Amino acid sequence: MEFQARLNEIIKERYRKPLAKCTKAQVYHALLQLTQELSAQRPAPDTGRKLYYFSAEFLIGKLLSNNLLALGIFDQVSALLEKNGFTLAEIEEQEPEPSLGNGGLGRLAACFLDSLAALGLPGDGVGLNYHYGLFHQYLRNNKQEEQPDPWIEEQGWLIPTDVTFPVQFGSQTLNAVMWDIAVPGANTQTANRLHLFDVEKPAAAPTDGIDFDKGDIAHHLTSFLYPDDSDEAGRLLRVYQQYFMVSAGAQLILKELDEKGISPWNLCDHVAIQINDTHPSMVLPELTRLLLERGLSMNDALHQVAHACAYTNHTILAEALEKWPMSYIERVAPQLVPIIREMDRRAKSVFPDPRMVIIDHKDVVHMAHMDIHYTYSTNGVAALHTEILKTSELKPFADVYSYKFNNKTNGVTFRRWLEVCNPRLASLIDDCIGSEWRRDASQLENFATFVRDPKVLSAMLDIKDYNKQQLAKVLKQRQNVEVDPQSIFDIQVKRLHEYKRQQMNALYVIKKYLDIKNGILPTRPITVIFGAKAAPAYVMAKHIIHLILCLRQLIESDPQVRPWLRVVMVENYNVSWAEKLIPACDISEQISLASKEASGTGNMKFMANGAVTLGTMDGANVEIAQLVGRDNIYTFGASSDRVIQMYANHSYHPQEFYNRPWVKEVVDFIVSPTLVALGDETCLRALWNDMKTKDWFMALLDVEEYTAVRNRLLSDYEDRTEWSKKMLINTAKSGFFSSDRTIAQYNHDIWHLD
Ligand SMILES: *Cc1c(COP(=O)(O)O)cnc(C)c1O
Repeated sequence: MEFQARLNEIIKERYRKPLAKCTKAQVYHALLQLTQELSAQRPAPDTGRKLYYFSAEFLIGKLLSNNLLALGIFDQVSALLEKNGFTLAEIEEQEPEPSLGNGGLGRLAACFLDSLAALGLPGDGVGLNYHYGLFHQYLRNNKQEEQPDPWIEEQGWLIPTDVTFPVQFGSQTLNAVMWDIAVPGANTQTANRLHLFDVEKPAAAPTDGIDFDKGDIAHHLTSFLYPDDSDEAGRLLRVYQQYFMVSAGAQLILKELDEKGISPWNLCDHVAIQINDTHPSMVLPELTRLLLERGLSMNDALHQVAHACAYTNHTILAEALEKWPMSYIERVAPQLVPIIREMDRRAKSVFPDPRMVIIDHKDVVHMAHMDIHYTYSTNGVAALHTEILKTSELKPFADVYSYKFNNKTNGVTFRRWLEVCNPRLASLIDDCIGSEWRRDASQLENFATFVRDPKVLSAMLDIKDYNKQQLAKVLKQRQNVEVDPQSIFDIQVKRLHEYKRQQMNALYVIKKYLDIKNGILPTRPITVIFGAKAAPAYVMAKHIIHLILCLRQLIESDPQVRPWLRVVMVENYNVSWAEKLIPACDISEQISLASKEASGTGNMKFMANGAVTLGTMDGANVEIAQLVGRDNIYTFGASSDRVIQMYANHSYHPQEFYNRPWVKEVVDFIVSPTLVALGDETCLRALWNDMKTKDWFMALLDVEEYTAVRNRLLSDYEDRTEWSKKMLINTAKSGFFSSDRTIAQYNHDIWHLD
């Protein structure tokens, strides 16, 4: 075994003692070095056109297990460690989780890199090397506290390069320094790269909280992901970050073209650029500008750009569709202003429709509009979302550019989200259908034939029990909370947002609490688990966290309720938490207001791991429902059509729902003396007031049906055989949601890399 000899050598050189005598940190660093060496030996795939995936975030998670799997030595390394008294899981505890992203959009980018590499397609990521992430979340006094989330160590995954590019801002020029992370492909002998640009002299972490001098671009440009944009300095910093990323990325593309001896006149035959949401949109004018510098005419430059670039839309939420005042771009990158004005002039000359302008009458630049006009593909991320884009949000564009619009339903990598995080389930599947599904997730379908096999069904239940016990241990270890693995684990983990409706889940918790106080006991104890970060400036989201934490404290201290109902909130929800929570989940909460969750990918991970979805007909839940059939998912709530209509004619009035019999009692509990005694009355009152009078994401519209369906689900859980069939079908039908499938479709329909 070649790798084993090399590992022994590394350990001997570094520590001068045998593996079994090393500390966990030493073992981790030796394996890190081995993994880096093996990845470095792999060439990039070379099939013709090359993809550059531009994204503000890459939520890659810890890399050790993932890379060992891709290098084909996961099992051998696990066995070797065990022979020497270690487990791979405890070694991986040593690894800091990279804070290069936060929610689903960043995790999608990470799954896509994994799948591109596994399919042997040439596709590199382009992003920023954030030092302190979004923030590290602490839960204190029933509130979220934010601290820097540093992750970069002397010896880590970042590979230094000698590549730098000058990025010219209005006020100064900064050098963008390129760092790489290797992305070895499973099932191949090749590796791609994630290119992360950084400033030359990054600032040290702020010492208390996440406040820093947002005007100090030279040192703080790459400090934090999504710096607070509630003031102008913060908004400008976001534009500085975006321009820094795309300018360096565009220069990298041209440098690589030069090295291959390809003329920039032929750029679009050799380069595909995917713009992940609007954050990298300035790559369009920036690449155009660089091509003009190389001597292309405006016509030729725009032609090359528009035939190289493609855009992915991730949201219809108005507040999330980026628009920048031209005055910001004037300050950050004045050289782009004439180009964007020319792009706008050309677009207006063909499409005078005011709903389609790039620059509006207030001199504000609509990034998504620029993307649609100047790329050859605009895709949505789930069937329903793409339909909504075409028929409502982006209808004027879809009407004239119907050939550009297409759907690519999101996916997740089953290597991380099933093979690595749930090895027992993975090996049960092997026992039933062989291991081919590990290369081709569509094979999981064959697992469905075991739905009447009592041995397999009871193995499904045993594995779930085991995973729940493991999670219970982790919760005890990390947060000192004891949960009952016999209880039902009902989990909602995702960014905190009103549209995702954690507040509706909290209302259910209140209802259950009140029922138990009135002697109406559930058949079996329920453990409701939350995990969520709120954006630091998102006040209402923080109020919702406060409500959840106050409810937790109330229930924990009530001996009458605690045996039946528990609330847990994991601190600093991230990929590592997800890998422990998802395999242990019974009920997957996917309860966004219909039409608002573009796809969701958490829903797919839970499904693959045999959780049953409780969800609205939103995003990819719709496709999950089609795949598993009505017996194997619990859906509720107003349809997206109805919701869209209610917004259009302003016909939703929360008071009507608030005044229903128990709804009022439950909502009013938020400001009851009992709860107010535990919390911050101002916050609770603000949340209560908003829910009664605005409730923009219509929690009260759906809360009654949600409660009824959730109760039905809890009682169905008691038929353990029937339930295990639902689990099995969910796993068996999840193969469609492999990001290998998604990437194959992007390649076939958009990128044409081979
Ligand atoms: C998958 C994932 C998400 C996305 O979850 P959604 O429920 O789709 O919003 C967010 N954060 C982490 C850590 C994830 O792994």
